[in-house]
Amino acid sequence: MSDATHTRLLIIGSGPAGYTAGIYAARAMLEPILVQGIQPGGQLTITTDVENWPGDTSVMGPDLMLRMEAHAKEMGTTIITDVITALDLSKRPFTAQSDSGTVYTADAVVLATGAQARWLGLPSEEKFKGFGVSACATCDGFFYRGKEIVVVGGGNTAVEEALFLTNFASKVTLVHRRDSLRAEKIMQDRLFKHPKIEVIWDHEVAEIQGTEMPLGVTGVTLRHVTTGTEQTVPCDGFFVAIGHAPASELVRDQLKLHSGNYVWVEPGSTRTSIEGVFAAGDLTDDKYRQAVTSAGMGCMAALDAEHWLAAQG
Ligand code: FAD
Ligand code: NAP
Repeated sequence: MSDATHTRLLIIGSGPAGYTAGIYAARAMLEPILVQGIQPGGQLTITTDVENWPGDTSVMGPDLMLRMEAHAKEMGTTIITDVITALDLSKRPFTAQSDSGTVYTADAVVLATGAQARWLGLPSEEKFKGFGVSACATCDGFFYRGKEIVVVGGGNTAVEEALFLTNFASKVTLVHRRDSLRAEKIMQDRLFKHPKIEVIWDHEVAEIQGTEMPLGVTGVTLRHVTTGTEQTVPCDGFFVAIGHAPASELVRDQLKLHSGNYVWVEPGSTRTSIEGVFAAGDLTDDKYRQAVTSAGMGCMAALDAEHWLAAQG
């Protein structure tokens, strides 16, 4: 333990929650260390236009996150490109081990590990991942110029991905398991008006069809949710956009959880079930899940940590 790096506040995660916590904690002279994880900048780095970040009518997600990173750094946050692989919250100081082998000890921790894409769980989805199956239109859309694409999901992400993919594809089919979308109305309007997009309602994905040599997708078999009737829609690419699950693996057996693996926090605060451990953003929020609410919670977490550390003397 003697060669561990000690910090008053360790922030785990570099999305809007983590960077905002960094800005506030650094300004409170806590000299925080922030570990970025496998996706520096978080979920907004895999999207294009963000139109609801106050102050920017439209900003590219990756640009916004680079600005947040620069802001946190400028204020005095030490930003480390590494992944925390284990976290011991059983005694203080808390101990975190990273993928590079560095061990951190911390008087307080802000958890801001966000969420990760959910998958359907079909064997054929697993088989064709990276070979026609994707969960990131901004990453992989370019490979489908002039081709046909199927997107599954009914939320903002699915609609946004379908619209974005029309920049490349000759046709985009959005498949949803119900007869109405949960995406914002303004996004739905754009979707329904788009000449390249067709929506198939009340269907679930039964199987992804493809070739072995070379490995690649040729179509998606859909099943009607009430009649069970099946149809196959030909396509070259299949994008899964069915939401995100909280990245709480590090703490699932240590902290109280809610609503299926979200980290529980005391209402009106970011205090978790262990003193000195705070949680912010999509990791704890199963309701709003927005950049601005995550940033707000990041601010709260830094302030909560500051007050708690001050009370410890
Ligand atoms: P995330 O952004 O999920 O970041 C989590 C961070 O934790 C990442 O940096 C990751 O590397 C890190 N991490 C995870 N595990 C570890 C670990 N073990 N060690 C270290 N670090 C770790 N919201 C909007 O308000 N407007 C939009 O237009 C919008 N568009 C979106 C488009 C898409 C395609 C998606 C997927 C989401 C969109 N959202 C949008 C939602 C928004 O991105 C999230 O609400 C927000 O990013 C959550 O922020 P966060 O800081 O909680 O976590
Ligand atoms: P979401 O809102 O949770 O929507 C997930 C969608 O996938 C739902 O329509 C759901 O169907 C469907 N689904 C879930 N499991 C499925 C399964 N196994 N098979 C088929 N369909 C399935 O997730 P999201 O769209 O990723 O959005 C996450 C959060 O980020 C939201 O809060 C959203 O507002 C935010 N976000 C915001 C923006 C923006 O502001 N522009 C953009 C993207 C994301 P049901 O509807 O039947 O449940």
